[in-house]
Amino acid sequence: MNISKINQDEGNMHVSCSFVIDFQKSDSVVMNFGGDGKLSVENLTIQTDTSSLKYSYQPDARKLVFKKIQGRSIGVKMNYNYTNLSAFFIYGGGTAELWETSFNEHYYPYLPDCYADITLNLELPDSIFPLCSYPLKHTGSGKYGCRINGMLQQSLSLALLQKSAYIRTTAGEPYDMDIYQIAGMQCSKRRYDELLELARASISYFGKIYGDEYLCPQRGITQYPAFVFHNGKGFSNRYNIGFISASQEKFSTYPDIYPLVHEIGHRWLGEWTLLIRDGQPGAYFIKESLNEFMTLMFLRHHFGNGLYLSLIEKYNAEYQKIINTPQDEPVVNLVENNNNTVVYRKGPLILDRFAKEIGYENCISLISSFYQKYAGKPNLKYSDFINLVNSTWPNAANELKNWIEN
Ligand SMILES: [Zn+2]
Repeated sequence: MNISKINQDEGNMHVSCSFVIDFQKSDSVVMNFGGDGKLSVENLTIQTDTSSLKYSYQPDARKLVFKKIQGRSIGVKMNYNYTNLSAFFIYGGGTAELWETSFNEHYYPYLPDCYADITLNLELPDSIFPLCSYPLKHTGSGKYGCRINGMLQQSLSLALLQKSAYIRTTAGEPYDMDIYQIAGMQCSKRRYDELLELARASISYFGKIYGDEYLCPQRGITQYPAFVFHNGKGFSNRYNIGFISASQEKFSTYPDIYPLVHEIGHRWLGEWTLLIRDGQPGAYFIKESLNEFMTLMFLRHHFGNGLYLSLIEKYNAEYQKIINTPQDEPVVNLVENNNNTVVYRKGPLILDRFAKEIGYENCISLISSFYQKYAGKPNLKYSDFINLVNSTWPNAANELKNWIEN
C-alpha cells in the first residue's frame, strides 16, 4: 500500500494499493472500505482481471464486494483519494492528524479480523512526521516504509504530526518510549515523571499478570508505545498499538493521568486483541469494561487499597447520577464505540462486586486466562467469557451474567 500526502489538504490523502484475493472456498469476499458515503472516496479506479471476478463498491454500506467468476487467487489494484472527515473535524484545527479505522473510517480496504502480510510506503511533505501502529523506517526525504507480517488487517493507524509544533523527548531504560508534546503546552517535570513511573510500572505489571510481555514480535509489536499529545477537540484517549494519543491540555492539567494506564492496558485487552465485533452483545464490556477494571487492579497493586476504594467510591458516585434513568442500560447492550458511564463505571463496579465474591486474585487470574485463551482469535463472543467463568465459578458466573444483563 502506498499512501501520499503530497499536495493534499487536511484530512486527505492519496492511496494506491494492490493485493491478491484468495477466495479459498468462498464465492465472494466483502471488505470494509470507505467512510462517509458521499465524501470519503474519490476518483476510485479498480484494475483486475474482470473475467475472473466482479466487484462493486457500496459507499453507503462502506463495503467493497468481490464475487468470484473463476480461479481462486486474483490480483486487484486500487487507486483513490480519501477524505477523512473524522480526522478533519477532530484534529483538522490542530497540529496533528490521526488516521484510524476505528470510527468507520476504512481508509484502506481490509477484511476485518483477518491477518495479512503488508508493505506500507508513505510519502509526506517535509513539514510532517509520521507515527504508525508499527515501526516505520525513514527511507528518504519525506519517505517512510515498513513491512508487517501477519498484521491484523484493521490495525493500521497513523498519526501525522506537524514537525514544527512538536517537541520529542525520549524515556530510556527499561522501556524506550518517545513522548511527543506540543511546544508551549508541555507538562511540568512532575507530571512527566508521573507518566514515566506509571507507564513503566503498568507495563511490568500487566506483562506479568497476563504472562505476555508488552513486546510481541509475532503480533508486530516491536517497540514500546509512543505518547502523542494533541490539541484535537473534545476527543477521548486512544491506544493504536504503536502510539497512544491523548489531549495535551488534559495531560498537562488534570489531577491524575490514570486514563493513560487504561490505554497501556489495551495492549492486552481491547479492540486489537479481543476480536468481538461491534454490534455483538457485550462487545464493550469485553473491549473496555474488563480493561478498565484491570486498570483499577494495577492502581490497587501500585498505590494500595486506599486509592482503589476511593476510586470505586468515585465510580459509584458517577454511576448513581444515571442509575434508573434511560441512560442506565444493561452493560451487555453497549455494542458501539461510545464513551459511556455504563461501560467505564457500571461495568467495573460489577466486576468489583464479582471480585469480592471470588477474591480479587482469582478474578485477576480469570481475566488473564481469558486473554491467554482468546487474544487474536476471530469471532469472539461475550458468552465465551461467561462460559470461562462458569467452568470454575458456576454460581458466581450466574450472578455476574445477571448483573451484566440487567
Ligand atoms: Zn479504552
